[in-house]
Amino acid sequence: MKFADLHLHTHFSDGTFSPEELTGHAQRLGFAALALTDHDSVEGCARMTAACGPAGIEFIPGTELTAEYNDIELHILGYFLDTQNQRLLAELTRFQSVRQDRIREMVARLNALNVPLEVETVFALANCQSPGRPHVARALVKAGLVKNLDEAFERFLKKNRPAWVPKAKMSALEGVELIHQAGGLAVMAHPGLNRTDEIIPALVDAGLDGIECFHTKHTAAMSDRYLEIASKFDLLVTGGSDCHGFSKGKPLIGNVKLPYEHVEKLKAKVESRKPGAQNPRSALPTPP
Ligand code: AMP
Ligand code: ZN
Ligand code: FE
Ligand code: FE
Repeated sequence: MKFADLHLHTHFSDGTFSPEELTGHAQRLGFAALALTDHDSVEGCARMTAACGPAGIEFIPGTELTAEYNDIELHILGYFLDTQNQRLLAELTRFQSVRQDRIREMVARLNALNVPLEVETVFALANCQSPGRPHVARALVKAGLVKNLDEAFERFLKKNRPAWVPKAKMSALEGVELIHQAGGLAVMAHPGLNRTDEIIPALVDAGLDGIECFHTKHTAAMSDRYLEIASKFDLLVTGGSDCHGFSKGKPLIGNVKLPYEHVEKLKAKVESRKPGAQNPRSALPTPP
């Protein structure tokens, strides 16, 4: 049976694998299709395309946006994006600069707490346009200022801890629209982690295409719950490991094996949206 992992990160955001390393792991595990979903970035997609081709793996260009709805944070996955879309690229650049400013602010707060971390150390370690809290955490560990990543988040970086800085986010409705105008499908990421089910109907009204039912941190009960929600709202079903490489123990790739039939359904929807595609409704008889 063919299967896919549609939620993966590389070192173009806060993952540790290169696109080539990630593809190598996926090939060993027998994946037929992969999507790259780096935070606020599509930069790794070109190298993923180049690596997946010879490995016989189908590649779907994507990203993971941080958004909010009624002050609730949620992550939105975009799939089948046109990675040259000018508006998408401009918005991603804007959010990358928000991320860089946030790193500066978090390091300033750490310094005010007498934690002697230099911002350049974090940027050098991150070595990407889209840095995040995991890079600050890794820099703290590397400098011997905390024992491990968990301590970095628990003591300093988790929401409402002393070095946490809120992140400016786009609205969820803007996120869905941004993905659509770049030719993509918009999918709600790991709903079981955010516990934000009450906002799903509004996102569906805004054109949400799918929901990530399968995720490393979803229990079987959560997956069942979101499969039911997908069926109720006629949403496509996705799933992925959310692998960040070797950031904490064993890489997560392989934890989620999404049956390939879901990829077929995603492709059918994206094709039906393309200009010139036949509107399936036009085949219906005209109502009296
Ligand atoms: P950011 O986008 O900068 O707010 O960072 C969010 C990322 O930090 C998530 O995608 C996770 O990969 C990671 N993260 C969040 N909480 C923790 C935690 N407690 N321990 C390790 N990583 C975490
Ligand atoms: Zn991440
Ligand atoms: Fe996420
Ligand atoms: Fe993710």
